[in-house]
Amino acid sequence: MNVRTDRRNIAIIAHVDHGKTTLVDQLLKQSGAFKAHEQIEERVLDSNDLERERGITILAKNTAIQYGDYVINILDTPGHADFSGEVERILKMVDGVLLVVDAVEGCMPQTRFVLKKALENKLAPVVVVNKIDREQARPLEVVDEVLDLFIDLGADENQLDFPVVYTSALAGTSSLDPASQGEDMQALFEAIIEHIPGPQVELDKPLQCQVTMLDYNDYLGRIAIGRIYRGALSVNEPVAVVKRDGQVQRARITKLFGFLGLKRVEIETAQAGDIVAIAGLEDINVGETVCAPDHPDPLPLLDIEEPTLKMT
Ligand code: GDP
Repeated sequence: MNVRTDRRNIAIIAHVDHGKTTLVDQLLKQSGAFKAHEQIEERVLDSNDLERERGITILAKNTAIQYGDYVINILDTPGHADFSGEVERILKMVDGVLLVVDAVEGCMPQTRFVLKKALENKLAPVVVVNKIDREQARPLEVVDEVLDLFIDLGADENQLDFPVVYTSALAGTSSLDPASQGEDMQALFEAIIEHIPGPQVELDKPLQCQVTMLDYNDYLGRIAIGRIYRGALSVNEPVAVVKRDGQVQRARITKLFGFLGLKRVEIETAQAGDIVAIAGLEDINVGETVCAPDHPDPLPLLDIEEPTLKMT
């Protein structure tokens, strides 16, 4: 096993309204991957307009952020228990989570629900106490509540040792000290790099990519989204797809997409540790493994419910 030290695949989890969207926006804004102008335009354009413009659906749920030499993929998760299958699938693609908790409200039911899933999946947590700028903020009490919740949910020793970053997503600041607001998002970026491991991969082995989400668009048909665990993937390459029932189907990748900021960008190749969107696999399903043609080795099936196909 090797570790891709230049990558971090993380999910952001929180109770609704605790500030996930605002936080990811700030990280993107401060990452230097985009000019400020371009970002603003992206948010105001409704995703349907963008789709029409480019013929490509936007997977708003994955934001890829360049920070120095690192690429940080941040996957958004729905907080509500109704989407528990989707949360599970997203958590299968990442190595760590940002748990965002409001500095006034503290832990809420959805905080508990998503944290439970993250801990069960053995993910490395970074706790973000957000809205530190609010007058009634009670950061230290909230950290105690979070610790109690971790203990209650059976966190292991490493998980219990979680780092805490205090943020105002609104102001774009982060700090390791609850008494000072900080100046920018650097403390949070550094905590992600330091405490969440890069993806473990086998680069020189035959391809294995497990599909965890599906998307659809009129131009490309069904699009498979997943993480590459082993080897590399290139456009026009033949692949073997191991179906849920163990059958092997031959297919060819017609288009491959990576992520940059909020956009999906066409790429030629991708390697283990990357999260990609693949076109050309017509009746692909969640849980199936895309493999090298001569090595159809499936990854263990995900023990999760079937998703509904998102029509765009
Ligand atoms: P999400 O549901 O977790 O994505 O939450 P949002 O990012 O949409 O934020 C919910 C509300 O909280 C919005 O009105 C934000 O402007 C506000 N908010 C987010 N972060 C902060 C913060 O750091 N301080 C304050 N005062 N408000 C915030």
